[in-house]
Amino acid sequence: MSQGAILVLSGPSGAGKSTIITAASNQIGEYYFSISTTTRSARVGEMDGRDYFFVSKESFKEDIKAGNFLEYAQVHGNYYGTSLKPVREALDAGKLVIFDIDVQGHRLVRDKMGDITTSVFITPPTLCVLQSRLEARKTDEQSIIIGRIENAKKEILALREYDFVIINESIEEASKEFTIIANAARLKQSHQQCEEFIKQWLMLD
Ligand code: 5GP
Repeated sequence: MSQGAILVLSGPSGAGKSTIITAASNQIGEYYFSISTTTRSARVGEMDGRDYFFVSKESFKEDIKAGNFLEYAQVHGNYYGTSLKPVREALDAGKLVIFDIDVQGHRLVRDKMGDITTSVFITPPTLCVLQSRLEARKTDEQSIIIGRIENAKKEILALREYDFVIINESIEEASKEFTIIANAARLKQSHQQCEEFIKQWLMLD
């Protein structure tokens, strides 16, 4: 039985999510990374169409009205959303689709596509470590870092809603754990596929 599957990654900004995906990318087979649309401004080094699709609030709201998002949420005062069409296409092609979305997005994806969804929460070992990582990467002003820390304190409370937790102390270890989870996520079967398999399995010649 082969089909597409979804792997949701959540965790505070600065948890190391994109570094872990990059480190594991050669071990997890073909996958489609869902590029989100956002109204926040691009950080230094970020590219439109690679890291995010950077759009205006007006354009984002038009997409909401048109029903173009699988899910969307407001995070740190900006909108972030996952476009439905490329995700559908990747799933139809049998790919593993990876989302980097917040805890609100995870709830929405679970509600809509729970039977093919696996989720993992990635976090630094402590709030103190998160703060030093955010300060060290020097991509955000102090006021933004404070906002991210406050948001992380709320997000950690959703930890128990996830199938797996990766505590990112070393990239090597975290990417090994991520590889195991991603490869297992691929094997998850939808209810519909199980029903079809049972029907066929029971048939006698
Ligand atoms: P950042 O601004 O650091 O790139 O992302 C901030 C937060 O927004 C992160 O927790 C990230 O997972 C989340 N995020 C990014 N894209 C999406 C999306 O499409 N939907 C939702 N719900 N959250 C997103």
